[in-house]
Amino acid sequence: MNSKKLTIQCKVCGTLLEDSPKPKSCGCPNQTMIYKDKISGNDLSKIIITQKELTEDSKPVRLTKEDYAWQQARRDRKVKRLSYEVR
Ligand SMILES: [Zn+2]
Repeated sequence: MNSKKLTIQCKVCGTLLEDSPKPKSCGCPNQTMIYKDKISGNDLSKIIITQKELTEDSKPVRLTKEDYAWQQARRDRKVKRLSYEVR
């Protein structure tokens, strides 16, 4: 089997979320969520996307080149959507 599993990590709370048929969210104010390859969150620059190969699950997660470039682009543009509420 050569399938890859999409995994994201919320940098705000550090929760790792794996792609799954049901929506998963980290539960912190950034509301990082993954659902069928779709990723959402209040601040996407606070989400790390990794593609973990199932055969390598003992290794630490790492970014692919593309993911890294994507994140850099995000960062460069300083995308700032709603900053989360402070109560
Ligand atoms: Zn979080």
